[in-house]
Amino acid sequence: MNSIPLVDLKIQYKYIKKEIDSKIKSILENASFIGGNEVSNFSNNLTKLLDAKYSISVGNGTDALYIALKMLGIGPGDEVITTAHSWISTSETISQTGAHPVFVDTDEFFCINHEKIEEKITKRTKAIIPVHLYGGVCNMTEILKIAKKYKLFVLEDCAQAILSKWKDKNVGTLGDAGTLSFFPGKNLGAYGDAGGIITNKFSLFKKMKMFASHGGLKKHEHLMEGINSRMDSIQAAVLNIKIKKIKKWISKRRKIAKVYNSLLRDIEELEIPKERKGSTHSYHLYVVKTNKRNLFAKHLNEKGISTGIHYPKPLPLLPCYKYQNNTLTDYKNAISDSKKIISLPIYPELNEKQLNYICDQIKFFFKK
Ligand SMILES: *Cc1c(COP(=O)(O)O)cnc(C)c1O
Repeated sequence: MNSIPLVDLKIQYKYIKKEIDSKIKSILENASFIGGNEVSNFSNNLTKLLDAKYSISVGNGTDALYIALKMLGIGPGDEVITTAHSWISTSETISQTGAHPVFVDTDEFFCINHEKIEEKITKRTKAIIPVHLYGGVCNMTEILKIAKKYKLFVLEDCAQAILSKWKDKNVGTLGDAGTLSFFPGKNLGAYGDAGGIITNKFSLFKKMKMFASHGGLKKHEHLMEGINSRMDSIQAAVLNIKIKKIKKWISKRRKIAKVYNSLLRDIEELEIPKERKGSTHSYHLYVVKTNKRNLFAKHLNEKGISTGIHYPKPLPLLPCYKYQNNTLTDYKNAISDSKKIISLPIYPELNEKQLNYICDQIKFFFKK
């Protein structure tokens, strides 16, 4: 058995190489590198895919969060509530606006624990950023209820959750706006950095589109100061090819997760991921928990199976948030999870033979 990576982007490229190569070649020959049809087509394809009214193509998923927060009017003196368990982009962009990130512990689904949001709300709270981590979905009904009660914006971080659903609606369309990342390793990945924002609100859409492009919709008419966060044509072209396949790819991921679940569910020392009732998981990552995490990772690595830890430290415990003097007991669940989580290989091209081999190795480890 050849070694099995966490995600195999090389094999995916093999399947779509012809189409990708000819598209990139034509872009190079036409020298249309920024903007143009590929980018606007991608924005249209994305709104169609996710049943959103508007979308903006931007430089990356981190910019997407920053742009949305800024255009929701978040700034100095404000507080934004988010989860203790995410990638740093979620919280660093809050600070970039001048606002203050406030962390809430997670629940059994690796998402923000909605029951613990209200105790963190103050007069300065302006928004909540739920993160649909690993492709799993936050309890949006409860989060939207809280947001309504306290008049807060909801910005969904869907970087890991394209096509995940909450009660048949795509994540990203439930709150004020949703952000996406097309980082190569994400479920819909470009061949470089790229990101997107979706919203159903026209005025917010307009503002975000302007801000992402130097504060203007027309050249030399800068209605405000903005930033330069554009998706380039080559990335848009790659994404336009891949977006045609994303539904099929996500259903493959769900099938693989099902196989993992059925083969691993009886291992006492291993906890398989749960799907929240009312949600559809898109399995960007398949994350299990075990108290023997480090030995387990070592064993799989020796057998040629790559694993990952997403993420080794909850956000409030990172050195950059030391200044917050966070109370560690507030983050019991996130801290406990961070010591037990391990991500197993998952990608649409992972075949049955590989999957069986991985599960055999896992069973072997826990039998000892
Ligand atoms: C990947 C990711 C981002 C940032 O996306 P980039 O495109 O890498 O900037 C933001 N939030 C989460 C949860 C992510 O996983």
